[in-house]
Parts: sequence; C-alpha cells; structure tokens
Amino acid sequence: METKKGRVKKIPFLDRSGCTGCESCISLYPQIFLRNKETGCIEVADLTDYPETAIQEVIAFCPGDCITWQES
Ligand code: SF4
Repeated sequence: METKKGRVKKIPFLDRSGCTGCESCISLYPQIFLRNKETGCIEVADLTDYPETAIQEVIAFCPGDCITWQES
C-alpha cells in the first residue's frame, strides 16, 4: 500500500543468517540501517514507513541476499 509518494507500508526484513556485516546497507542509507551496539548485528531502523526505491536498491546490492520485503 502506498502512503506518501514512494513510501510503502511494507517492512524490510533482514535475515541475519546471510548477513556478512559488510555495512554496505549502512553506507547507502544510514537512516534506515544500523549496527546494534549491544549485539553487533545489523538491523533495520524502526520507521513508520520505508522508501521503496532505497530499499530496492539495498536489496539488489546486498552481497548476502538477506534483505526482503515483509508485508505489514
Ligand atoms: S548489505 Fe547485506 S550483508 Fe551487508 S551488512 Fe547490510 S544486510 Fe548485511
């Protein structure tokens, strides 16, 4: 479902089992992806909606193929 222009009510899901920790996602979009200081794991920031084009870019770029869309 589209909300504001280009933003969708879908949540990016990050499968940590495939994550290499390369931080490419953080480099591209530090406002969306972050490294949890306590666990050391890469996480998706808790936002109300996500920019579809940006997430698609990260999905295509992620070397671990570990980011997918999850319907909310
Ligand atoms: S780009 Fe993919 S593999 Fe690299 S840190 Fe982000 S989620 Fe992990």
